[in-house]
Amino acid sequence: MGNRIRLNLQGLDRVGPKTASEVVVMMREVMGPLVTQAGKTLVITLGSHRGDLNLDFDSTTDTRAAGVCTGHGVSILGEDAGESVFVRAHRDLRVCGPVDPKTRRKDTRKILTAFWLLGPALGNTGIHELGHFIADLQHVNDPGNFMSTMGPALDQRTMATQREFWAGKKTFNDEQKKKLVKQIGEGKWLLDITFGP
Ligand SMILES: [Zn+2]
Repeated sequence: MGNRIRLNLQGLDRVGPKTASEVVVMMREVMGPLVTQAGKTLVITLGSHRGDLNLDFDSTTDTRAAGVCTGHGVSILGEDAGESVFVRAHRDLRVCGPVDPKTRRKDTRKILTAFWLLGPALGNTGIHELGHFIADLQHVNDPGNFMSTMGPALDQRTMATQREFWAGKKTFNDEQKKKLVKQIGEGKWLLDITFGP
């Protein structure tokens, strides 16, 4: 591993070039400074080989069995602490707010309908999984944090709040950053079983 941390992103060839580019830029912007702080250089690669860190953008797994406007948990969007980000689950995210008293229907429009929404949302989920994998970061309640799991409350779900939660800009707090930088510096991933105690 040496002084370089190779982050390999697999499966982005299937999401389209614009969406893929959004994901790559985000990985560089968020993970790059953490790797630099750890005294190393981040190298992002694409393809079917393995890096020191790996994310697989899985366009195959069909999560629609979870149903429209049910579930909606982050658990179906990625493999928690694993390497998979489920692309179809993201494409299928819907507003799913409260029932409109006039129409007696829920708003079931999809929310991540453009590359500049889908790309950041896939990036947010990927970084969430890396947070678990690298430093065993726990879930938090702050919706602006990468480790957040809860989207807007049911009665506050609108196209705007849902897009903001899934595709909006998120951050790690100082304590999380410190843990990530420490692990990156040591090159040991806390949830990687090959490094287990
Ligand atoms: Zn999680």
